[in-house]
Amino acid sequence: MSFSSLGLSEKVLSAVESSGYKEPTEIQAQAIPHVLERKDVLGIAQTGTGKTASFTLPMITLLEKGRARARMPRTLILEPTRELAAQVEENFQRYGINHKLNVALLIGGVSFAEQDRKLEKGADVLIATPGRLLDHFERGKLLLQGVEILVIDEADRMLDMGFIPDIERICKLIPFTRQTLFFSATMPNEIQRLVDTFLHNPERVEVAKASSAADTVTQRLAGTGFEDYEKRATLRELIDNAEDLQNAIIFCNRKRDVATLFRSLDKHGYSVGALHGDMDQMSRMAMLESFKTGNIKILVASDVAARGLDIPSVSHVFNFDLPIHAEDYVHRIGRTGRAGREGAAFSIVTGDDEKALDAIQKTINRTLEWIGEPVDFEAAAEEKKARKKNRRGEKSKSVKEGRRGKKDSSAKKDSPKLNTDESVEFSSASEIDFQPIPISQPVQRRSSNRRNSGNGEGLTFKESGHIPAFLLRDTKRKVAS
Ligand code: AMP
Repeated sequence: MSFSSLGLSEKVLSAVESSGYKEPTEIQAQAIPHVLERKDVLGIAQTGTGKTASFTLPMITLLEKGRARARMPRTLILEPTRELAAQVEENFQRYGINHKLNVALLIGGVSFAEQDRKLEKGADVLIATPGRLLDHFERGKLLLQGVEILVIDEADRMLDMGFIPDIERICKLIPFTRQTLFFSATMPNEIQRLVDTFLHNPERVEVAKASSAADTVTQRLAGTGFEDYEKRATLRELIDNAEDLQNAIIFCNRKRDVATLFRSLDKHGYSVGALHGDMDQMSRMAMLESFKTGNIKILVASDVAARGLDIPSVSHVFNFDLPIHAEDYVHRIGRTGRAGREGAAFSIVTGDDEKALDAIQKTINRTLEWIGEPVDFEAAAEEKKARKKNRRGEKSKSVKEGRRGKKDSSAKKDSPKLNTDESVEFSSASEIDFQPIPISQPVQRRSSNRRNSGNGEGLTFKESGHIPAFLLRDTKRKVAS
């Protein structure tokens, strides 16, 4: 199948050729002809499949006829996050090089004035996050009666983020006669309801789920202890031993952990940045750019911040935490092995992760291989119980001692508190400055001897009593991938 058989205009075909794509991906081959025929399309596909071009290329072709009017955009694309919106804009720049399209981006965190100016000029393409779009609408700066094509992208993500009421409102503001292109990786009931309400006889195109698309990704599990410092040590071992690691995204479940881990890796000399939903738009964009250009090799991120990011060549993904929702695992590992490239994904597993791991393996319909010994979840649960009991014992002892007024600081100093050392050092996430660190250096740490510099991190495995078997091996050995 070639691009030229899809019905795209000559100008678009020439832009596609310049961008180096030889053949359409499956979603492009299936969706583009329907879009060009002005049909509604329901595309079940996720990022990494080439779905963005499956709507941008035919839209540019269709936009060749007609002109935009002030404050009346001709097409509207709704995206759940600012980054995704920015990526779609990049797509229009890349494939629209032979056109003079006015593309306006309405995203939060950017001044209204600049966005107003673009709207005033008349937008052929308006790319927006739902909240900011409605803000402009309510300020009377935007008229939606002229929208001919509406794209709702990553609908299931919109659902996760609570945007469905906004989407419904927007759909009602746009003429019924519009063409609607609707994309979602999954089809929960609420999404199906939206499709039934707002699409007219849609053509359904579906491409293989990431669980099968991600066959090029080597996936491995690595067991570790319960404590965060143990997880961090395991992560460093994985990074140091990973083969052909060019760059990596490390996923954490919580923003706070993104901050802590970023700080820890930086301290250990890695070339690292962080990305999470609380950062302002400028810092997020700057961070992403630093990562894309290779200035930062490792990006610690939360799911919301990383969803849908178009970073074409991530060699490795590390799950510092197993995701709470199994579907996020698929999205996370989808950051690597994109468009047929090889990639590797390593997940750190603790004794608490039995349920999460079961859910993931069920979702991807395969049993993942371990590096070294698998976590013995039963034994881990016992260990945890015993630790809790011990801690309670120690606590009540110290309360009693406190009551007796015997505050012995030397005893405190000598007590085994390896697991608290680092957590104290890295716990105040709010104080952490997330500006990108402009260091060009190898992924590996700047100086390996910092590890035993007395901050407690490098020493902890033995003393924790939980030594994952794979970490007892010669550390120079490469991690199988
Ligand atoms: P998407 O699913 O839209 O996020 O695209 C995933 C990646 O595939 C992006 O880096 C695109 O630049 C790339 N891509 C899109 N279409 C093609 C194609 N026909 N051939 C090769 N790569 C593509």
